[in-house]
Amino acid sequence: MTELAPAHPLAPAWLQVPADPAALDPVVFTSQYARDDTGCVTVDSVPVTEIAARHGSPSYVVSERTFRDRARGFREAFEAALNPLGVELEVYYASKALLNTAVARWATEEGLNIDTASGGELAVALAAGVAPGRIALHGNNKSAEELDRALEVGVGRIVVDSLAEIELVARLARERGTRAPVMIRVTPGVHASTHEFIATAHEDQKFGLSLNPVQEGEDSPALVAVAACVDASDALDLRGLHCHIGSQIFAAEGFGQAAERVFALRETVAERWDVTLPEIDLGGGHGVAYTAADSPREVAAIATDLAPLLTSVLESSDLPTPHLSFEPGRFIAGPSGCTVYTVGTVKTVTVSPGVQRRYVSVDGGMSDNARPVLYDADYTAVLANRVSEETPVLSRVVGKHCESGDIVVKDVYLPGDVTAGDLLVVPVTGAYCWSLSSNYNWLPRPGIVAVAPDGDTREIVRRESVSDLLARDTGV
Ligand SMILES: *Cc1c(COP(=O)(O)O)cnc(C)c1O
Repeated sequence: MTELAPAHPLAPAWLQVPADPAALDPVVFTSQYARDDTGCVTVDSVPVTEIAARHGSPSYVVSERTFRDRARGFREAFEAALNPLGVELEVYYASKALLNTAVARWATEEGLNIDTASGGELAVALAAGVAPGRIALHGNNKSAEELDRALEVGVGRIVVDSLAEIELVARLARERGTRAPVMIRVTPGVHASTHEFIATAHEDQKFGLSLNPVQEGEDSPALVAVAACVDASDALDLRGLHCHIGSQIFAAEGFGQAAERVFALRETVAERWDVTLPEIDLGGGHGVAYTAADSPREVAAIATDLAPLLTSVLESSDLPTPHLSFEPGRFIAGPSGCTVYTVGTVKTVTVSPGVQRRYVSVDGGMSDNARPVLYDADYTAVLANRVSEETPVLSRVVGKHCESGDIVVKDVYLPGDVTAGDLLVVPVTGAYCWSLSSNYNWLPRPGIVAVAPDGDTREIVRRESVSDLLARDTGV
């Protein structure tokens, strides 16, 4: 063992000086990554130098095998844990994490359904050939056009989010002479992220209908919504209740607590209207590791932990066991993708006497990954085209935009000789990076390169060109 260098005074406590700077930490570099004989990082055996040479830089790179494995793995883990309780379940891929026709096909071929949250996402899922019955439509402010299109194609469920929307869907369904399958989005007063959850009595957010009455003794907004759906049962087929408690969740307790509250509403509905709601959706939010600071539990462990919590909820009810559904987005797409960047300028600045920070600029930035700016999200990076014996230096990987907050990786140790022309790989950019990308500073958006299990690479979404940038400029 070599002696570890002391940590840099500007480094966060969780960041260790790497003992082996070439190592690919398995916490974030999942099984698609390795280094080849030359030291180049590979994605499913394809060197990233080849990917950059063929498809350009920066590029988003998605491992089809990993995406499929995670989609199927999630479904199988939850089936293995919950089917023995007599619970049948479905998994909806929350497509806002990453959507194009290829990934929609991968998800459905692995037995998942597709969640959409706008007319645009619905259109892409349909273009992928997803059976409409396997598509759900979400959103707190769906337009009449979006809802009517959903009814026209016959989506499997519309998750309604307000009384006004219930009326609107009922009217549109009557006009079409159909019955709309709906679920009611409720806010169970549970907020979860990472290892913790907070249970509150009241909700202050735009989504859903509260389980708590506004005034004591009144019906809750959720119950009022159920009543509205029951009243409109000529036009609405009320399938059940839906909740989504947060994102980047590492533990089962929040889901268990939400289930308890949502199942209690299902009991009330049965007592009041003699209606047994057949479905409960517990939403998504299953977390992933972005850096060595994160330690998410295996999805199988979350499913296993949830089983006893659900058992007690199910045992306290005489109603038939409902069909359950879950909606992972980030869990499936996040670790499946990375971004390959090329290094440009490298600059060392003095922060205080004797304390320096090295800025490594890459050919993208906040336009292809807005999460550091939006959420203060942490990522990591490695030198990808070669290995280096040079001492690791605390570095900040930044983009090329006109903002000092344009940070890709806040803190990472990279070899001392990182220089213009080197490639960096930032892992776990598969979710909410392409989806949130922009043309800020008129940067063309990178393409999405899929690496097929056989090592074939292709752009499933092509890189934008200058003509794309100008395409909607009418010139008048
Ligand atoms: C965003 C969202 C999801 C997916 O969240 P992840 O954190 O990506 O798993 C699932 N359901 C609903 C309703 C959402 O809004």
